[in-house]
Amino acid sequence: MSRMKAVQVSKAGGNFEVVERNIPEPGRGQVRIKVEACGICHSDAIVKEGHWPTPIQYPRVPGHEIAGHIDAVGADVANWTPGQRVGVGWHGGHCFVCESCRRGDFILCQKGKITGLTHDGGYAEYMISPAEAVAAMPDELPAAEAAPLLCAGITVFNALRNAGARAGDLVAIQGIGGLGHLGIQYARQMGFRTVAIGRGGDKEPLARKLGAHAYIDISAGNPMNALQKLGGARVILATAPDSKSMSAVFDGLASNGKLLVVGASFDPLAITPLQLIHGRRAAQGWPSGSAIDSEDTLRFSALTGVRPMIERFPLERASEGFQHMISGKARFRVVLTTGA
Ligand SMILES: [Zn+2]
Ligand SMILES: [Zn+2]
Repeated sequence: MSRMKAVQVSKAGGNFEVVERNIPEPGRGQVRIKVEACGICHSDAIVKEGHWPTPIQYPRVPGHEIAGHIDAVGADVANWTPGQRVGVGWHGGHCFVCESCRRGDFILCQKGKITGLTHDGGYAEYMISPAEAVAAMPDELPAAEAAPLLCAGITVFNALRNAGARAGDLVAIQGIGGLGHLGIQYARQMGFRTVAIGRGGDKEPLARKLGAHAYIDISAGNPMNALQKLGGARVILATAPDSKSMSAVFDGLASNGKLLVVGASFDPLAITPLQLIHGRRAAQGWPSGSAIDSEDTLRFSALTGVRPMIERFPLERASEGFQHMISGKARFRVVLTTGA
């Protein structure tokens, strides 16, 4: 059996270790993917630190922004063949029999698997995935640019397209980081009047280059007033994981508007019942999506030219890449490449 390089965490709070492992064999209903690129996501900190409601089994190889190609298929896999370009995201498979699955809502599967958390992920040269978690990847997308679209990309794309906003509606993107810089591009390409909300005037040129029609600097005044001056937002996509900033923009919503939360934080939002009742407004969260949503994200990105801004690190330097991401210095997504 030949060997592969992988990066694992061997205990909660442990460091990333570069190790050699046997190349795993795909079982029934599984495929083996030759990883070409894997994005480093903020949620990889969950695996590193062990902050998850159910115990994580270690050692674990993190990584759920995987782009590569099918290398081998197990028994009973009908729809994938070796050589096909594919991606895998956070949603790592589902049971097909729970109530959510029976309703076709696979992302909410009660026994849902998570790539790089319930099973080994993409910080490796090869990984095994359940076949139902695999998305086809268009030829136009280079693997390193496709990788962040499998988590950051699908999350904002899928949230925005299901938000209830229609062409021409005002959609605000709060935060211009890993999620936000993609959110601005998607909102613009989906035909929304796109407003970027960031801290500081220096982010305005980038926001406009990404497609924002207008820019609101929260350090220059109350963002809620600025949004209301523009007519109020049908949707505010909250991407910066800062509950205070999210709460501060809520009153920038128009009637029937929705605060759509994708930036994950543990702190409570400060929104009163009256704020919800007034104007019949809502606050909602959005998880990423299933493999077919990933496929839609990749296809839409190829079609419209939406691309992540990335910094590349070789797989062996995963620890350094993770530090770069967690320090907030990355512009905007860090991607590990295997040289495949
Ligand atoms: Zn992620
Ligand atoms: Zn299920």
